[in-house]
Amino acid sequence: MLKNKIGMIFGVANKRSIAWACASACSEHGAKMAFTYQGERLKENVEKLAGELPDSLVVPCDVTNQADVDAAFEAVAKKFGKLDFVIHSIAFAPKEALEGEFVTTTREAFRTALEISAFSLTQVALTASPLMAEGGSIVTMSYYGAEKVVPSYNVMGVAKAALESSVRYLAADLGKYNIRVNAISAGPINTLSARGVKNMGSLLGYVGEKAPLKRNVTVQEVGNTALFLVSDLSTGITGETIYVDCGYNIMGI
Ligand code: NDP
Repeated sequence: MLKNKIGMIFGVANKRSIAWACASACSEHGAKMAFTYQGERLKENVEKLAGELPDSLVVPCDVTNQADVDAAFEAVAKKFGKLDFVIHSIAFAPKEALEGEFVTTTREAFRTALEISAFSLTQVALTASPLMAEGGSIVTMSYYGAEKVVPSYNVMGVAKAALESSVRYLAADLGKYNIRVNAISAGPINTLSARGVKNMGSLLGYVGEKAPLKRNVTVQEVGNTALFLVSDLSTGITGETIYVDCGYNIMGI
């Protein structure tokens, strides 16, 4: 399905990362990929994982540093000469902003969360699009806290709302180049980032009980949806936020 397609994956921290599940699904269908990592701390992890896949590239990229972003795309252009898809699977907010009340969010925490978790998508889309001469697909990861209040999700919910809105504006701008932009709104999954949200354990229990499918979503199910969105099976879809949450979002009470 993705033979001769080149992807760039932002957000692999370890093998539990949603980004890794997306990359695994895309690799099974023939894609070659570049992986970015943030900081030396994660380099070894990401190199080891990426090394399991044929002909992959690993490049550093902290999205708060524009020079890093430019250099990462230059490395992709040099090795592969083009880009067909991007999976943007990164988010960050200071820990103290992910507990207590939203009303106490500091200016600094707000700025950081919005810059890393929302603005970075626009930054990445702008830099990726010249490499997508044959069209392309950009996929990002959101969460239900963008639209409803989820205790402790706080400023990250506001960042995800900005992210989902950015998806629509980017889709409108880039559609003329046949570049599609979509978000997956994933149900809760136990990853490194998720553990930063207070009460994650009870959230998983609650959602697993209330969701129509009576369970939590698996990371592979999110990966498979990303595969669909970057493949030619979804060429008519852009600007959407697609729920992969075992149906939790449709429930009133
Ligand atoms: P992970 O911790 O595995 O992945 C998050 C990634 O974001 C890490 O690789 C992290 O690197 C990276 N990141 C943070 N700051 C920066 C930065 N400045 N520059 C570049 N990369 C950065 O967690 P998930 O796989 O759970 O998260 C992936 C995405 O999915 C996020 O957008 C998250 O909000 C979203 N999501 C997660 C859900 C869940 O329940 N897990 C549910 C719905 C959406 P580092 O470790 O160095 O900070």
